[in-house]
Amino acid sequence: MNYVSTRLTGDAAEISAAMAIKTGLAGDGGLFMPESVAALTKQDIDRLCSMSYPERAAFILSRYLDDYTYDELLSDCKEAYSEERFPGGAAPVKQITNDIYSLELWHGPTCAFKDMALQIMPRLLSRALVKTGENRNALILVATSGDTGKAALEGYRDIEQIKIKVFYPVDGVSRIQKLQMVTQEGSNVDVCAIKGNFDDAQNGVKRIFADAEAAHDLDSKGYFLSSANSINWGRLAPQIVYYVSAYCDMLSGGIIKDGEEIDVCVPTGNFGNIFAAYIAKLSGIPIGRLICASNQNNILTDFLKTGVYDRNRSFYTTMSPSMDILISSNLERLLYLTAGPARTAKYMSSLAKMGRYEIDNDVKEKIASCFTGLFCSEEQTAKVIRDAFYNDGYLCDTHTAVGLGCAKMYQDSNKGGRKILLASTASPYKFAADVAAALTGVESADALSAPDALSALTGTEIPLPLRGITERKIHFDEVVQPQDMLKSVMNFAL
Ligand SMILES: *Cc1c(COP(=O)(O)O)cnc(C)c1O
Repeated sequence: MNYVSTRLTGDAAEISAAMAIKTGLAGDGGLFMPESVAALTKQDIDRLCSMSYPERAAFILSRYLDDYTYDELLSDCKEAYSEERFPGGAAPVKQITNDIYSLELWHGPTCAFKDMALQIMPRLLSRALVKTGENRNALILVATSGDTGKAALEGYRDIEQIKIKVFYPVDGVSRIQKLQMVTQEGSNVDVCAIKGNFDDAQNGVKRIFADAEAAHDLDSKGYFLSSANSINWGRLAPQIVYYVSAYCDMLSGGIIKDGEEIDVCVPTGNFGNIFAAYIAKLSGIPIGRLICASNQNNILTDFLKTGVYDRNRSFYTTMSPSMDILISSNLERLLYLTAGPARTAKYMSSLAKMGRYEIDNDVKEKIASCFTGLFCSEEQTAKVIRDAFYNDGYLCDTHTAVGLGCAKMYQDSNKGGRKILLASTASPYKFAADVAAALTGVESADALSAPDALSALTGTEIPLPLRGITERKIHFDEVVQPQDMLKSVMNFAL
């Protein structure tokens, strides 16, 4: 399968999956997209139902990464989604209420859903370097709102021919997220805080990628830049798998009947996770509506309602920091599929120049036929955490709570609707202080003892990867201004 840029207007060369994964971002600033969506037939779905998670992943990835052999993919998926890395299964589906089911995506090494993609992607990149005859080292640059950074560091650590540098907003991540990153082990990793928010970090990384002089300097040192952010197709493709897998599990478990449609609700930031659900729907998985759940940074809610994307607005720091985003990069992929590359290029240029764009009516209608945007305030989110635990017996993190709140809101206005599959994106222990505060109504004085307090309060266990985190050695303390990010990258690329 060939890959094209979302902004492609001329007849630029089409490239292979390995090349798309290696480069991350297209030369014109667009994102790579497969030239078509791989259809899953009823027969395929039946076959997938009897497979293990690694087999399902290899099956679906092989449709998109056809320059990788099935055996390569199966061997990588078996390692990435092993019982050791995902104790208890990679993507289990659990019931929350009568009609809402949680797809728990956080049983991996860093306790957030990013592991689902970032445990497999380094293996795909490693093979891509060989497949494309690359002799230089890949330098991965990551801008993170918290969870990507740790998941990428853990996925890429000590992988040969690859170095990774992570930038995070200095006050924009939780204490535990920060500790997870600055205590990272590995000979090829670097972590740096920036004085700014996530968008500053992401824009800084994008600027470095677009800097021809920097590329030349790095090349002379034997490096080329690559990205691990969800703008990379190697991140996105593995995320399609768990929606297909969840549908199979719901079918096999008798929760739904053959062919029955489900709605999918996703707590959304960069629009990567929900876009993967959209691809699953386009592939033929019976998915009805996609509920795009936002926190107080509800730019997507407004966009889905009005067709205007306007980032000229206040930025809020919330208790769901991985969704504190004003530029949802993967939305560009949805625009590409609904408006085509020429208009996507126009919208993106308007976003870059004016910080806003307005989609045409036909595009708006197409998007509205699949997507509903809703959001939860901070107070609502805290109440959802409380109600879910005390009424439904389900302990959820702050991001999942935003999704659960929106799923319930959607249900209240759509009586007799479909069952909802909610993407549960992080362990409650990753955001223990806010979760505990929501349950007790009292802010904890010490964020670092919050996991113990939450465990005592709820009678649940702290996940293994988060135990003893305060005792680990801190390896990174660099803090820079956004405009000094390039300098910091050059210092690392020795
Ligand atoms: C990254 C993240 C999100 C947002 O996912 P996107 O793909 O960026 O929309 C939501 N919740 C958690 C816990 C995350 O880490």
